Amino acid sequence: MATQLKCTECGQWGEDPDRCPSCAAERQVHSTFANHENPNRHKAFEMPTMEWNNDPQNPHWKRSLINAGKAMHWAVLAVGGAIAWMAYWVAV
Ligand SMILES: [Zn+2]
Repeated sequence: MATQLKCTECGQWGEDPDRCPSCAAERQVHSTFANHENPNRHKAFEMPTMEWNNDPQNPHWKRSLINAGKAMHWAVLAVGGAIAWMAYWVAV
């Protein structure tokens, strides 16, 4: 069974998710987890992965500085993860 959606313009109910079948008004669908067709917006709850900064707009010294920071950040996360993992096996 399709979901019935109420039109905010005319108040009629319909099944078409894109527009109202009665007055053809486009539905203002808002979803917190939708990508909104923005390629820069990550999917909700996507696991982050290690990505080096290869932006050619940044000068080389700035890129190496950013990438050194990223490597340090992931090293800190790895140590924290290792401690959390050990604590889990101590606890069970
Ligand atoms: Zn309508």
